Amino acid sequence: MNLKSLTQPELADILKELGQPGFRAKQLYTWLHKGVRSYDEMTNLPKALRDVLSEKYPINAPLAVRKQESSRDGTIKYLWELADGNCVETVLMRYHYGNTVCISTEVGCRMGCAFCASTLGGLVRRLEPNEMLDQVLFTQIDSGLPVSHIVLMGIGEPLDNFDNVMRFLELVNSPDGMNISMRHISLSTCGLVPKIDELAKRKLQISLAISLHGPNDEIRNKIMPVNKAYPIDELLAACRRYYDATSRRIHFEYAMIDGVNDSEANARELLRRLKGLPAHVNMIPLNHVEESPLKPSSKAAVAKFQKILEDGGVTATVRRTLGGDIDASCGQLRRKYTKGKI
Ligand code: SAH
Repeated sequence: MNLKSLTQPELADILKELGQPGFRAKQLYTWLHKGVRSYDEMTNLPKALRDVLSEKYPINAPLAVRKQESSRDGTIKYLWELADGNCVETVLMRYHYGNTVCISTEVGCRMGCAFCASTLGGLVRRLEPNEMLDQVLFTQIDSGLPVSHIVLMGIGEPLDNFDNVMRFLELVNSPDGMNISMRHISLSTCGLVPKIDELAKRKLQISLAISLHGPNDEIRNKIMPVNKAYPIDELLAACRRYYDATSRRIHFEYAMIDGVNDSEANARELLRRLKGLPAHVNMIPLNHVEESPLKPSSKAAVAKFQKILEDGGVTATVRRTLGGDIDASCGQLRRKYTKGKI
């Protein structure tokens, strides 16, 4: 068990068993969430307690096995090695509204999307809450840049690791921890409908992003196997329920893939589907993945698609690609590293 995955009341229970007073929980929690690497740094804890804790609950920190910095836009990508030797990626992006960290939620992914590098080797395992927290914490510490925003858009499907992700959100949001506002956190899913409903029940103020990538079942079935389990109508109905429960506008991600989902007819169909749903479409120029035959759409196709959506009354933005020179899109760095190419 890792103490960094526990809430303050849970830490208090452990400390109580060790005969410690209640106020120690806050002290310990605060130190852990500062990213200390050793109990010796916890100077306000008695030495005897520090010795017991380090014996029973060693502190581990991920190791940056690769760090790449974009010379174009300052984006930094980390490849972290976890305690068991597995690796995950974290990306720090410098937006005008604040430094944003994109974290991984699983080692690999089992969703099988045709365009995504993260899923090529399948799912290895899910990340623990402390492993998600450490990505934010140590990216901030290593870069020296304060992190104000988080997106769960790295390797893995966050809703396929539901309980650990919920616990991570609670930890990273806590006032004695990193204290990152829920409103500054986005969670992206490929469309696991029952989990979207479960998330809606929590009524968190996070932003929900849906990887849509197609206006109908025919296209989604081709590139996203998850659509066979949860077809587009069911997905959009769940988005409506999510909006009704939280009043949070839904973000739809739409990777523009040449000849697959980028025609004017596709844009008009998307417009019809999204009618009446408070939505924002975030168009992403496809990042080419070595193993995939899919190609990014032309600039002209992207512009036309965007205009059709905007003219129809749906806000559509084209995501600026950051870190294009450092393999900063999902799963590419981990894949090269594990294949021994870098
Ligand atoms: N599993 C989650 C979150 C991880 S991916 C999800 O599916 O939403 C984050 C976003 O990047 C998703 O919208 C995903 O579809 C998109 N993405 C993956 N590979 C991509 C690529 N090669 N080019 C552009 N976007 C990609």
